[in-house]
Amino acid sequence: PSPSPERAPRLTVIGTGYLGATHAVSMAFLGYEVLGVDIDPHKIALLNQGTVPFYEPGLPEKLEEALASGRLRFTTDLDEAAEFGDVHFVCVGTPQKLGSEAADLRFVDSAFTELASRITRKVLLVGKSTVPIGTAERLTALVQQISPLGAELEVAWNPEFLREGFAVQDTLHPDRLVFGVSSPWAEDRLRAAFEPILAEGTPLIVTDLATAELVKSAANSFLATKISYINAMSEVCEATGADVTQLAEALGLDERIGSRFLKPGLGFGGGCLPKDIRSFKHRAEELGIGAAVAFLGEVDAINIRRRLRTVALIRQVVGGDLTGVRVAALGAAFKPDSDDVRDAPALDVARMLYLEGAVVSVYDPEAAVNAHRVYPDLEYASSLDQALADADVTVLLTEWEEFRTADPVEMGARVRSRTVVDTRNALNPDRYRAAGWDYWALGRPHTA
Ligand code: NAD
Repeated sequence: PSPSPERAPRLTVIGTGYLGATHAVSMAFLGYEVLGVDIDPHKIALLNQGTVPFYEPGLPEKLEEALASGRLRFTTDLDEAAEFGDVHFVCVGTPQKLGSEAADLRFVDSAFTELASRITRKVLLVGKSTVPIGTAERLTALVQQISPLGAELEVAWNPEFLREGFAVQDTLHPDRLVFGVSSPWAEDRLRAAFEPILAEGTPLIVTDLATAELVKSAANSFLATKISYINAMSEVCEATGADVTQLAEALGLDERIGSRFLKPGLGFGGGCLPKDIRSFKHRAEELGIGAAVAFLGEVDAINIRRRLRTVALIRQVVGGDLTGVRVAALGAAFKPDSDDVRDAPALDVARMLYLEGAVVSVYDPEAAVNAHRVYPDLEYASSLDQALADADVTVLLTEWEEFRTADPVEMGARVRSRTVVDTRNALNPDRYRAAGWDYWALGRPHTA
């Protein structure tokens, strides 16, 4: 279904990174007039040429289609955006503050205030970025203070749940929509902005601003907790000789538990979960209710311990000293089907191995450029074969399809020693053992 022409608002998307670019393209694809805005002129130039500045399956095709339809444009000019939009979606970054667990809200604050100071009519400003509870209320007061005479600005929050790697699908067919609003008018404008998605029967929760903000923090905390829970069980397995993959399978078959996000391995990373649980914990402490979510500190600690345990296991496997050991590090992205290396466990492990004197050759099908920017000292291979050449130990760090389906016989011919450490429990141990590999994994007994 397309939006009804008489109701469809003109949309802007402020901040065209992973979230904003996907949102802008998807909304134009659905039939809305969309203007994407970013302060990064390079990003805007690429998007206008039809190039997605990051790796996201399916997005380049949709971008091309949306540009060709004439409904989508990108600009760095906020005046144009203020003039154009009826509903403005703010999708700028909310990274972790340096030296603190809090979220850095300066991009959100500046996007809202810069926009508000330019608008002279009635519009809806919708935050999609993940923010600490209370941000929308604070921004409401802030934009009302600075908005020019004649303007009527209302703030709403519409948290985003898309997953990198499935971003287009998740945007067009979300599990649910959440509208945090302060008036029936704002709800009506958001309903108009999501008409085709709602028409498909997508569940909608209409709520207040604080609840909408909290849905996102709570959802990410739950997911992080589930991952750390099974990784804590992995620690127990390592101390007792139990097998965490069988444990996870048995637990997951209980419908009340479920198998998703119950995969034992190297743990979570990326530009969302780690910083979001820290920011949530920090915000709760500010509110004087730190005890309520103090467990998130443990969730974070369990997650970081997996990285240290991985390095210890690799050290043990190569005989106790990593100096001069050639490591083929398979993966750099925080998860497969993404080129995002923000707080990536894979890169963190590669870096720690390097710091212990290993010669680390990293190969990632999509994330090498981003990884090189963060850690230029590591060696980057341009193919799996190149990474494997003369390796003393092969470490699977990100479970890309290319690695899961690679042939252990062919791989075995490249390396110096057929020793593999599977930090994602993603390889088939029997296939590797049959091809003469010594197979090691997290949370599982080592059998020859
Ligand atoms: P990102 O860093 O990829 O993109 C942010 C963009 O905002 C950048 O292109 C930056 O140049 C731009 N920007 C910064 N200040 C600006 C301003 N004043 N005006 C215009 N543009 C500005 O970040 P992201 O991954 O897209 O995340 C954005 C937000 O969405 C974060 O709050 C994140 O937690 C949340 N989120 C992300 C995902 C995801 O999978 N990436 C999913 C759900 C929610």
